[in-house]
Amino acid sequence: MLKSDVSIVGAGPAGTIAALFLAKAGIRCTLLDKASFPRDKICGDGISGWVLTILHELDPNFLMKLSRQPFLLHSHGIRISAPNATTLDLPFYNDNRLPTSLPPGFIARRLDFDHFLVEEAREKSEISLFENFEVTGFRKEDQGITLESKTGEAIRSDLVIFASGVNSKFMKEPGGIFKDRKNTMTGIKTYFKGVTGFHEKNYVELHFLKDLLPGYFWIFPLPGNMANVGVGLDQYRIGKRKISLKNIMFEAIRSEPHLRDRFKNAKQETKVEAYNLPLWDRRRSISGERFMLTGDAASLVDPVTGEGMGHAAISGMLAAKQAVRCLEQKDFSAKFMQGYDDSFYQRIGKELSISAKIPKFIRHAWLFNSVMNRAVNSKVLQEKLSKAMTDLEVRKRLHEPSLYLKVLLGM
Ligand SMILES: Cc1cc2nc3c(=O)[nH]c(=O)nc-3n(C[C@H](O)[C@H](O)[C@H](O)COP(=O)(O)OP(=O)(O)OC[C@H]3O[C@@H](n4cnc5c(N)ncnc54)[C@H](O)[C@@H]3O)c2cc1C
Repeated sequence: MLKSDVSIVGAGPAGTIAALFLAKAGIRCTLLDKASFPRDKICGDGISGWVLTILHELDPNFLMKLSRQPFLLHSHGIRISAPNATTLDLPFYNDNRLPTSLPPGFIARRLDFDHFLVEEAREKSEISLFENFEVTGFRKEDQGITLESKTGEAIRSDLVIFASGVNSKFMKEPGGIFKDRKNTMTGIKTYFKGVTGFHEKNYVELHFLKDLLPGYFWIFPLPGNMANVGVGLDQYRIGKRKISLKNIMFEAIRSEPHLRDRFKNAKQETKVEAYNLPLWDRRRSISGERFMLTGDAASLVDPVTGEGMGHAAISGMLAAKQAVRCLEQKDFSAKFMQGYDDSFYQRIGKELSISAKIPKFIRHAWLFNSVMNRAVNSKVLQEKLSKAMTDLEVRKRLHEPSLYLKVLLGM
């Protein structure tokens, strides 16, 4: 049987970043994935400042190397349009987490981005990467935890980091996380070539359509005149409204006045694909005796933006740091593992709980339209919204009813 101090199931952003932080601390680990890389992952392909901040903490030179890759675009802001088509361009606010030579965000196909991370892991002598290795089960024993593969191989470790994404069974067992339809979003995406009218600084675009609130339609520009185009909404509302995401997406492209001209000469390049996003809904345990859950396997997707890679990166890094403490103390108990939960919620808990309250307000088209109508004429409000992307104190105010009242009354 193979032995390893730490095993990581899944080599998406959460798992690979966990492995790279372990390697940085000199800890040997195995990184297992059922796929072989490069492999695609259905996603909007927007890589936020959180991912960049964590990669900067890992190794500033690696982040610089990534930033120069031709497969990605540097993105400097966000374009938001309201159901009445009022449109606002907001630069990402620079909160000094990153050097000014770097942009606040990237956009890259997951096929390329995940492969780039995995190639970095492949080069590290501390990381043993096994592709085409599907973990089908685990056994907890006195001496450790043993992972079993589809093909009958077994690996015993002191502890396991589950980074196996939303569809993995490990979220439920051993994780104990069961998702309902209200807190699971379905997103569909396809690639188009030749969409026009992007902001010159490659802003990501969220278009809030009346029938889709609080979900949205997105267009993210990519190199080579390509764009990632998709829509997302929670499964409860999809069922209740009996809507087809695909119909909504193509109807918007065909008929929304602010979108249709931009797609006039665009060509759909890939089929429409769907995948789930496990939205964060409340604080719950994301660890237990000899294991931690990270990224989508821990249900950490931001409930407003649908962003999951940033939280996958943060949780991957913090799980690795906890693993180092566990190995030093030789303590793999559920109680000691709580240190991971605490560090995660200290870093991002407030942001997540604020995000979870915002959909309540953005589900009303009239309110959204009114706030946007005000915002296009108010530099102060635009600055507030820009800052809300990164500044927690400002974002907190976005779920206060009094803020909307003041905006509507022009105070
Ligand atoms: C339509 C859509 C649009 C999105 N847009 C964005 C966006 O623009 N920006 C953003 O930040 N987030 C976005 N997200 C969310 C983002 O894709 C996820 O949050 C992110 O991929 C989570 O990373 P992860 O490493 O936890 O899991 P994943 O990226 O899902 O990686 C899990 C890995 O585990 C492997 N695996 C699974 N089971 C096993 C097993 N049993 N054994 C071995 N390996 C296994 C898989 O092969 C995979 O490589 C979007 C999601 C969807 C569905």
